[in-house]
Amino acid sequence: AKESGKDSFARYQPGMGADILDHAQLGAQLRQALDGGQLTVRYQPVVRLADRRIIGMEALVRWRHPERGEISPGDFIPTAERTGLIVPLGRWVLREACRQKAAWREAYGDSSPSTIGVNVSGRQLLQPGFADEVADAVHEAGLEPHHLVLEVTENAVLTGGQAFDTLHALRAFGVKIALDDFGTGQSSLRLIRTCPVHILKLDKSFVLAAATTGTQARRQAAVASAVLRIAEDLELDAVAEGIENAEHADRMAALGYRLGQGYHLVRPLPAGEIGALLAREVAP
Ligand code: C2E
Ligand code: CA
Ligand code: CA
Ligand code: CA
Repeated sequence: AKESGKDSFARYQPGMGADILDHAQLGAQLRQALDGGQLTVRYQPVVRLADRRIIGMEALVRWRHPERGEISPGDFIPTAERTGLIVPLGRWVLREACRQKAAWREAYGDSSPSTIGVNVSGRQLLQPGFADEVADAVHEAGLEPHHLVLEVTENAVLTGGQAFDTLHALRAFGVKIALDDFGTGQSSLRLIRTCPVHILKLDKSFVLAAATTGTQARRQAAVASAVLRIAEDLELDAVAEGIENAEHADRMAALGYRLGQGYHLVRPLPAGEIGALLAREVAP
């Protein structure tokens, strides 16, 4: 069926296969996936660039579709957001990630990552009970609030006053807030003055470009350094995302970044494989 311009735009974003299902059909299947246990979570470490030590972890949802195989979040999160399914989906990921973080702490103690990051959509921040839901998830898993990092994008935060109120309530509770894809939005600088944030995650586009040469690369590197200086001045952590090779890692370290995330460091992995990595860190 032909839909409005907005929907057809969303349908043909890069990364969405040509065989992408109709939006409504996808929504119905996603609901079944949620009820039927087809969703799973991969985990990608945040590492210290100097020695590759794992200091945090990020939860990234996947959909194991019975016919189409593994579907990445870029292909179904937009549908989840438009249908409102992001609310139960996000709730499931949050609980699952908190449970997994507690299990790692139980098994690996001090060698386990100190934080678990969970991505949060704007729609979730607009739910009146969201802060309470987060508090329940933290307590039920036996975690402390500072173990949880909620990763929000600029667009999610700029949805309105309710989103800000929720972030302030969450900060008062003690969870950490990360600004994801930092530097790509229209009002990144305004946001760090007003948003109760602890961590800036430099968008991967800056990392990719900063490792090339030419004027464009110099500009991207300048933004990457400026973001780091702001983070330092405000006593925020900064993480360089999208470290795809050794040169990216060296380049970001040379700019002063201490923390990174990317395929070159560790890919997003199933919980069991992360466990094997952590077991290796326990052994001296
Ligand atoms: P994000 O939060 O910015 O997550 C980083 C994305 O970059 C992940 O894609 C990750 O697999 C990918 N990545 C990691 N290292 C590299 C690298 O070296 N190079 C490149 N090019 N990419 C790298 P993924 O898992 O496909 O997730 C895409 C987006 O979907 C996430 O972007 C996030 O915005 C959203 N997402 C994932 N899980 C959830 C969730 O549980 N809830 C919500 N609301 N959104 C989610
Ligand atoms: Ca993220
Ligand atoms: Ca990001
Ligand atoms: Ca993103």
